[in-house]
Amino acid sequence: MQFFKSRQAVHDFVQSHKKKDKTVGFVPTMGALHEGHIQLIKKSKLQNHITVVSIFVNPTQFNNQADYHKYPNHIKNDTEKLEQVGCDVLFHPDVEEMYPVPDHRKFDFGELEQMMEGAYRPGHFNGVAQIVSKLIEAVPAQKAYFGQKDFQQLAIVRKLVGDYNYPVEIIGCPTVRESDGLAMSSRNERLTSAQRQNAPVIYQSLLQAKKMYPEKNINEIKKYVVENINKIPEFNVEYFEIVDHYTLRPIHSPQSDKYVTACIAVYVQDVRLIDNINFF
Ligand code: AMP
Repeated sequence: MQFFKSRQAVHDFVQSHKKKDKTVGFVPTMGALHEGHIQLIKKSKLQNHITVVSIFVNPTQFNNQADYHKYPNHIKNDTEKLEQVGCDVLFHPDVEEMYPVPDHRKFDFGELEQMMEGAYRPGHFNGVAQIVSKLIEAVPAQKAYFGQKDFQQLAIVRKLVGDYNYPVEIIGCPTVRESDGLAMSSRNERLTSAQRQNAPVIYQSLLQAKKMYPEKNINEIKKYVVENINKIPEFNVEYFEIVDHYTLRPIHSPQSDKYVTACIAVYVQDVRLIDNINFF
């Protein structure tokens, strides 16, 4: 596996392979790699000659500094996992490389960023857009792979790429779960064993919500999910929304003809977990 820390070096590497008619897939991550990341990498390997993974914990997307500083760093372990899965290139820049000067760009995603993660994590998607734009300029791959686990982020990235005409195809990949249903996340390792044992309640509640839809009304479904999770000690639902899959507008009454997705954020003490489920 090739290892780059500089934007210019990874850019030159990718361009030289594209000139030789090789296709390049790109998987941006913040590291602490788990099976969810690995599935994205495997998909890229199936669809491209060369797969580039980036590991960069982006400070500008954290609205909570404590969350940033507690973000796990397992670069040695991650490198081994990347070697094992057959990743071709690891791009692992430091903060000065990605932000040699402060990035003052302001992005506007309209209503896509006005609810859920956008509302509860002010500035988060602006930071995501700053880093994703820099990363896809540094790694000019033909395809980039993102997980549906971060459902609203996927919508924002698609909009960013459309608005700025970036010549990259965004490939959305299904959420990978632990055997008990908990969505894999680098933050799961911060849960205590009791919290971890209870954490499948999040996906179980989403599955139950899906069963209740469209017969039960939206408020009834919301009440069920919030109460079912909040009754667990240390679990607090931040939001639970049922939204149009494409516009992300909240649905107020069941519409069987619509593509609908339910999204949730839960604080388990100070660990914030998100998940979502399609109702189709
Ligand atoms: P992160 O390292 O958390 O920024 O995630 C990097 C990429 O992996 C993002 O596109 C995420 O949506 C994706 N991802 C994270 N967790 C999962 C998962 N459990 N299943 C599928 N994709 C995931």
